[in-house]
Amino acid sequence: MAAELIKDDEEMDKTSHDFSPLGYHSEHKPTWCPGCGGFGVVSALYKSMADLRIRPESFVLVSGIGCSSRLPEFVKAYGFHSVHGRALTIATGIKLARPELEVMAIGGDGDGLAIGGNHFMHAARRNIDISYVMIDNSVYGMTKGQPSPTADIGTISKASPYGVFESPVNPPALALSFGATFVARGFSGDPKGLGSLIVKAIKHRGFSFVHVLSPCVTFNDSLDYWKSNTVEVEPHNPEDRFEAYRLSLLTDKVRLGVLYQKTEGTLDEKYAELKHAVGKEKTLTVEDFFADYR
Ligand code: SF4
Repeated sequence: MAAELIKDDEEMDKTSHDFSPLGYHSEHKPTWCPGCGGFGVVSALYKSMADLRIRPESFVLVSGIGCSSRLPEFVKAYGFHSVHGRALTIATGIKLARPELEVMAIGGDGDGLAIGGNHFMHAARRNIDISYVMIDNSVYGMTKGQPSPTADIGTISKASPYGVFESPVNPPALALSFGATFVARGFSGDPKGLGSLIVKAIKHRGFSFVHVLSPCVTFNDSLDYWKSNTVEVEPHNPEDRFEAYRLSLLTDKVRLGVLYQKTEGTLDEKYAELKHAVGKEKTLTVEDFFADYR
């Protein structure tokens, strides 16, 4: 958590911002299909921003490409609707340049696990202090429902008329393998529960990953399936990475909640220390930097 928050009611009265969930709605209404899981996620986000009394000018949302990547447009905060699979690289750059801002990357499973998979790995292992919310509906909704890397074997679609035959990936298990220091799973059909996970993710110092099970009502309506096939994760030691990994893989009922959380040094802290150490020796100018290459 980096952003400066409104500390008390007196300070709140001095600003013109409305710190209720409604105050975080932008002037643009969501353009998703009616019933899309994106509505549950954006509503959870409004609520978490209100719970944390976040100043809109201190919060940056960065997305890639896809239906869920439209989300920054619907939130009153800074937004960057970027390039396919590259939200985490841009979010990393913003955080290093402006560490005082709260930065969140958000997008879909296709965006983050296919073309963006490489960046997911490196953002997690670097433990940059940002949050990453992945809205997983197992399809590429924007391009008419092709199966994504989380689609189950046998999934029939126009692009897989004989069924998907590749194994699906498990995003929380990947995040744990990559070294993420906060890993949680939520459900867009439970915005209240998801909102409390997003609050915890924002408060966490380090790379926090929230995997969101979510229906695409047009191409993969999994709402009822997730309602009856998810359960709250059992109490466990959140610092036990092996246990978190086991819990992330269970399929009898898919576990929702915080699977893993540990405090470790972050990339932005290490970068600040490095800048300080280098700055003590001398102030590097652009000319100094290029002089080494002459
Ligand atoms: Fe949502 Fe699917 Fe419609 Fe895209 S196509 S807006 S993911 S319901």
